[in-house]
Formats: sequence, C-alpha cells, structure tokens
Amino acid sequence: MIVEIDPNAGFCFGVVNAIKTAEDYLSRGIELCCLGEIVHNEMENQRLQVKGMNTINHEQLSNLANKHVLIRAHGEPPSTYEQALKHGVKLIDATCPVVLKLQERVRKAWERLSPLGGTVVIYGKKGHAEVIGLCGQTNNQAIVVEDLQDIEGIDFSKPIEMFSQTTKEPEMYRKIVDEIRKRMALAKPDGATMLKVNNTICGQVSNRKPQVQEFAKKYDVVIFVSGANSSNGKMLFLACKEVNPMSYMVSQAGELNPEWFAGIQSVGISGATSTPMWLMQEVATAIKQLA
Ligand code: SF4
Repeated sequence: MIVEIDPNAGFCFGVVNAIKTAEDYLSRGIELCCLGEIVHNEMENQRLQVKGMNTINHEQLSNLANKHVLIRAHGEPPSTYEQALKHGVKLIDATCPVVLKLQERVRKAWERLSPLGGTVVIYGKKGHAEVIGLCGQTNNQAIVVEDLQDIEGIDFSKPIEMFSQTTKEPEMYRKIVDEIRKRMALAKPDGATMLKVNNTICGQVSNRKPQVQEFAKKYDVVIFVSGANSSNGKMLFLACKEVNPMSYMVSQAGELNPEWFAGIQSVGISGATSTPMWLMQEVATAIKQLA
C-alpha cells in the first residue's frame, strides 16, 4: 500500500515562528507561559508542555509579574499589552508579521471611518483570538460577521471598510462582500462606492483548499490529521471530503480505524495549518503497520 504525506501540509510560517521562539526560550531554561494555546493542536501543545511551557488565560496574566509570557501567532488586542505592562509581565511577542500588518490596517481604517460614522467589518469567527485582536484595534467597535445574517446590524448608508480573518474561506467572504455592496447601493445612490474591501486572507491558507483537493483526488483514502477545534482543519477536511468521500479526520494515530484501509491501494495524509509534520509522520507509520 502506498502511503504519502501532502508536501504542502504542516504549519504555516507564523506558527513555525511562534513555536521556534518558544523552544528557544525553553532550551535556555527560561520558564515560559503561552497566552492561550500556541496552536490549535492538542498533541503539539502537549509536546511543548513536556518541555516546560504552560498555557495560561487572560485572568492569570495579571498574576505573572516578572514572568515571560508568549503572545502566539494570532496576536492580541492593545488591552493585553496594557494589562501586561501594568502587572510587570515580560511579553515575548510572536504575533505573525502578517497579522501584525493586518492589525495596523484595521486600526488605520477605524481612524479614517469613525469620524464619518462608518463601520469596520471583519469577516471572521466570533471569539477567535485573531478576531479579538483585530476588534481591539477599533476599540471593539468593529462588526464581526460570520455569515450573511450578521450583516443586519450594519449602517449601509455610511462608509464601510472590510477585512477578513486570515484563515477564513474566500468564497464566503466574496458572498458577504457582494451582499453588503448590494445593500449599500440600495441605501444610497452612490452607496457602493463607499465600500472598501481588503483581501486579507493569508496566502498560506487561501491556496490550501485547491492544493488539498488536488492531493485528495490522487488517493483511495485520505487521512486528514487535525485538532478538533481548528477551524482551518474543519474547512480543509470538508474540502477533501468534497472530492474524495473516503476521507477521514483523526487527531492522532490511535484514532485510525483498520476497516478504512481494507482492500485499498493508496493513502494520502494531509493536515491543517496547525498540524505538526511529526504527527502526520506518526500517522503514516501507524498506517503502514496496519497494512
Ligand atoms: S495563517 Fe498566515 S497569517 Fe495566520 S499565522 Fe499563519 S502565516 Fe500568519
């Protein structure tokens, strides 16, 4: 049986950078906490925990004077930096440079629009760390839109600037943009011209769907390795399933079902942008042992 790992799968560079930064501090024996899970992958979090990194929440941040706390690739709102400064926490900022740039663009858009009564709209998952970081740039005045129903609270008669969370799906973003444009044209004759749309979906993610579908088509069975709480993982797994119904999602090798591989010739292994390569290799080894 042929078992191959998707060459395009694995961590994006933002996550690689955050993990490298954490490992660098840990290897020097520095006690390190990460504000929230460093990556939406339980197995990788456990690996770093064994090396000495603890995951903390925002409430705990106030009690960590003089301790090193890592900000992960998703970034944080300005209030987190203020909280850390107030309580003497040593922040290590591993925010992905792409997210940092996006935060700056959102902040500038808000500075332009707020005097005009306009709205910053963020297409993203409510409560997602990156989205919280982006909303913080607008004093939490941005409107977060997950689907078409969420656009109802927007004032379409005033200027609107749109951004997307870096890991969201381009198709849905286009649908939301089209609907907002229509509503603005209805609200005011020149309404549609008051809409500015920023393409802020990360290239590391937007290219993944067509790539993973090309990959998934080539194999009898696809094993998609991802943490259950990775939104990017869920989206890419569904993309695999669309083109190859024999696609299964697991978070680790122990979840493989030998029945999936009965009588088949080839298995492709892929994963989310939060899935470590070592985990996909472990899954590949386990499948070969089942054959
Ligand atoms: S998906 Fe893109 S923007 Fe988000 S952390 Fe990874 S590299 Fe950075």
